[in-house]
Amino acid sequence: MPLYEYRCQLCGREFQYLVLKKEDEENLRCPGCKETDLKKLVSRVAYHVSEQDRLSAYDPNSPKDDAFYKDTRNIGLHAKKRTQQMGFDLGSGFETKLERLRTDPGKVFDDTD
Ligand SMILES: [Zn+2]
Repeated sequence: MPLYEYRCQLCGREFQYLVLKKEDEENLRCPGCKETDLKKLVSRVAYHVSEQDRLSAYDPNSPKDDAFYKDTRNIGLHAKKRTQQMGFDLGSGFETKLERLRTDPGKVFDDTD
């Protein structure tokens, strides 16, 4: 699922957006000031794509510090690693939920699907 970060050209606010459809991105506005002039932050996308690397490096048995738990990119990492080790496939629905959880934690509780 392509997750991108944008910077508002008007107020400078940075935010992440999960692009499900092409139209989503075309209608995208700054959540702060509703400006439509947004700059896609390409470098952050590359960082996100490397989740596989994070996953391979992740050791479920090693102790974690506060920084680990504060990093939203680590949400679900433990579950994914464990299920991977056990040979389960969580499916694309899980991936979608996880992306939402990482980018907008409050919204997951509004989901009805
Ligand atoms: Zn703005």
